[in-house]
Amino acid sequence: MDYDVIVIGSGPGGYVAAIRASQLGLKTAIVEKESLGGICLNWGCIPTKALLKSAQVFEYLNHSTDYGIKINGAGEVDFASVVKRSRNVADGMSKGVQFLMKKNKIDVLVGFGKLKSKGVVEVKAADGAAKTYSAKHIILATGGRSRELPNLKQDGKKVIGYRQAMVLPQQPKSMIVVGSGAIGIEFAYFYNAIGTKVTVVEYLDNIVPLEDEDVSKALNRILKKQGINIMTSSNVEAVDTSGDLCKVTVKTATGTETLEAEIVLSAVGIATNLEGIGLEENGVKTDRGKVLVDDFYRTNVEGVYAIGDIVKGQALAHVASAEGIICVEKIAGENPHPLDYNNIPGCTYCSPEIASVGYTEKAAKEAGYEIKVGKFPFSASGKASAAGAKDGFVKVIFDAKYGEFLGAHMIGYNVTEMIAEVVTARKLEATGHEIIKSVHPHPTMSEAVMEAAAEAYGECIHL
Ligand SMILES: Cc1cc2nc3c(=O)[nH]c(=O)nc-3n(C[C@H](O)[C@H](O)[C@H](O)COP(=O)(O)OP(=O)(O)OC[C@H]3O[C@@H](n4cnc5c(N)ncnc54)[C@H](O)[C@@H]3O)c2cc1C
Repeated sequence: MDYDVIVIGSGPGGYVAAIRASQLGLKTAIVEKESLGGICLNWGCIPTKALLKSAQVFEYLNHSTDYGIKINGAGEVDFASVVKRSRNVADGMSKGVQFLMKKNKIDVLVGFGKLKSKGVVEVKAADGAAKTYSAKHIILATGGRSRELPNLKQDGKKVIGYRQAMVLPQQPKSMIVVGSGAIGIEFAYFYNAIGTKVTVVEYLDNIVPLEDEDVSKALNRILKKQGINIMTSSNVEAVDTSGDLCKVTVKTATGTETLEAEIVLSAVGIATNLEGIGLEENGVKTDRGKVLVDDFYRTNVEGVYAIGDIVKGQALAHVASAEGIICVEKIAGENPHPLDYNNIPGCTYCSPEIASVGYTEKAAKEAGYEIKVGKFPFSASGKASAAGAKDGFVKVIFDAKYGEFLGAHMIGYNVTEMIAEVVTARKLEATGHEIIKSVHPHPTMSEAVMEAAAEAYGECIHL
């Protein structure tokens, strides 16, 4: 055998699995056809956050007088430089993964990886030259790409996916974003903040439909105030790109409307990269576009594993990484616990941010819990007032009987940095009263978690 482990795909699932394998003494190689770091570092989490930071800086400039700062002359967005900064940040992160591969003595095999036969991976370089490598364990981590809907075909110019949205040659005057999950909302916020006229079209009744309804409603109100046109319960039926502007036919609850915009961004989720990687030839089972795996990411074929966006579970970078670590620890004979998919935080980095973990109020009730709900608005927080960020709240949900921390839902400034407290508390099975009795630093936004917990038990001080 050439290797103990070969990982195909170097996103946050693949490269993290490779590093952990190497730490555990397994001889490891990773196959990548594009840039190290996958979608997350190159076309997802990181470059979008760089774009969003530019938008936030612009917003600060526009509101500087709120903070007593006068700026002579209006600020201006240099779109090309905003995009360039985002690309530079992504490139730097990808180089960081290159360094980590070297540091951990992981061989990087450049090309398209395919499961050739039992224990054999074929790597085809861009020039077509193919080489095979053998390994006891092969981990598939090939990730996803923008999903296309039949009535929303992407031409990459006027009707685009997330990759093009990050590197448009110029800032569009108008944009229709189809889909209001985290990706759609982040782009809607970004483009609106820098001056593009944005409409969001969402098929379901609420934007960010996976979030607690209170958060969805609050975000809807705030984004509308920021100038974004939001259409819920609306379905894109057709797009006509023949003119200068795209004409988008949208069926709403009350009839049909035609919207016009320079660019239509399709943000309706991801499709998995399962084509051509040898699944059918080797009998690896899939179901509705996902590879079927057990709690330790073993497929039905011995020695073949799958992690990340290509298996079921939340399509998030930290989930992919956690899965990679568990998969490799099991291969190495350790005794990892299966991942608790109900304790995975989800974040959206618009402004204000949203962050959540665990049961929504509706899901907790549907699961049969009798619940206690506490809510603390940032309008009552000293830090939020000082920061000029009074929008939003923290909402916590406890089981009324045993005090189990069922879920937390936050909207506000910096809340994506606050949700990890709840993840840890839930992991350690902290109760509501243990949260209330954990002294939080003052003044911080995080006090709102303690206050919200106290509110659930009628002990809130600042409301
Ligand atoms: C715009 C956007 C923003 C996002 N923001 C966030 C965020 O803020 N937080 C978050 O947690 N998640 C975010 N995500 C989701 C996150 O990027 C993914 O969940 C994560 O990247 C999945 O990791 P992965 O390892 O499964 O695969 P990927 O990151 O998709 O990586 C797969 C890699 O495999 C390579 N590959 C595929 N097939 C082959 C092959 N046959 N041979 C060799 N190489 C191959 C690909 O080139 C790619 O590099 C975002 C996604 C998008 C699109």
